[in-house]
Amino acid sequence: MTRIDATLLHALGDLGQALAILDGDFLVALNAPMQTLLPGDPGALAEHWAQPLHGLATALKAPMGARTRCGVSGEYVAQRVALDARHVLLRLDDERARLHHLQRQLDDREGLLFTSRSLTVSEMGSVLAHELNQPIGATVNLLRGLKLRLARRHPESTDELAALDKAVHQVGYASQIISRIREYTQSRQPKTERIDLVDLVHQSLALLDWDLQREAVRLMLRLPLTPVPVQGDAVMLQQVLINLLRNALDALRLDRPAEALIDIELQVDAGRAELRVGDNGPGITPQTEARLFVPFSSTKPNGMGLGLSICRSLIEMHQGRLWFTRRESGGCCFHFALPVMAATSPTLEKTA
Ligand code: ADP
Repeated sequence: MTRIDATLLHALGDLGQALAILDGDFLVALNAPMQTLLPGDPGALAEHWAQPLHGLATALKAPMGARTRCGVSGEYVAQRVALDARHVLLRLDDERARLHHLQRQLDDREGLLFTSRSLTVSEMGSVLAHELNQPIGATVNLLRGLKLRLARRHPESTDELAALDKAVHQVGYASQIISRIREYTQSRQPKTERIDLVDLVHQSLALLDWDLQREAVRLMLRLPLTPVPVQGDAVMLQQVLINLLRNALDALRLDRPAEALIDIELQVDAGRAELRVGDNGPGITPQTEARLFVPFSSTKPNGMGLGLSICRSLIEMHQGRLWFTRRESGGCCFHFALPVMAATSPTLEKTA
């Protein structure tokens, strides 16, 4: 075996694949994962070495490139690839590990969707409470003012005065309900764990990989090479990022440019991390902009119009700020800034 083969085997071993190199009927080399799975010595007859793994000896005779099941319950897949005229690379994939990994990904996705649904209900309560509090307070003041004026000018209108008292009482009751909702939703304090924003971007993109592929959107990432730690609740911050990305995808779907593009940039400056999610979609008209963060205002046929107001309240819960800018080249960009936990001076990585 050449030095290159050994280095290659070692490097591929780091990726966790079980590999062996065969020369004719003989075993030439094995990497660490393969040694763990099926120990053997270089120079041994490949057929003897393969014996303990059910079906592997037969798989060694299968046509080059064919994927052959082996193991008692077919839990491994063996595949041979010719390296040169003499040497053959044998790869063994543990299907259980792949299926386990797939199941975990599905569970994680389901978990996040569940949390984000319950979070949305809770946040919706909070946003509603916040929005209703103002008109309720104003109504109480108006009714009290009206009652004072009526009592001064027409003290004999006892029925009307009593009705106004009842109205104030009813509105006061509504206000109590709102306070209770606020108390309940605010007691759901965000967690304060250490979160790497770079990681969070990758995790969020992994959850939307299918949507990005389906919409054929080109992704541009400008992320620091070093972690950007912030303190907060990973689920909440991920929900913000996913909402912004989904909005960008919706915009690109509704009004598709020649080449749909989403770009994500993360920068650290003066102890603040700023994350930008931009797209080259239709952008936002001044009329939409005026109602961008107003709950229940949406321009989408089935939109709830809650996403951005929830995102803003989640970011504010993390002592941050969320805002929007228009792009000269078309499209728009949403930004959020959060305090960074420790001083970092990252270098930029560019990926297209
Ligand atoms: P929803 O997505 O349910 O409409 P949001 O609060 O998330 O609720 O968004 C409110 C509105 O903001 C959207 O209906 C859309 O008009 C506008 N909007 C948000 N993001 C974008 C974007 N990236 N491009 C264009 N318009 C956007």
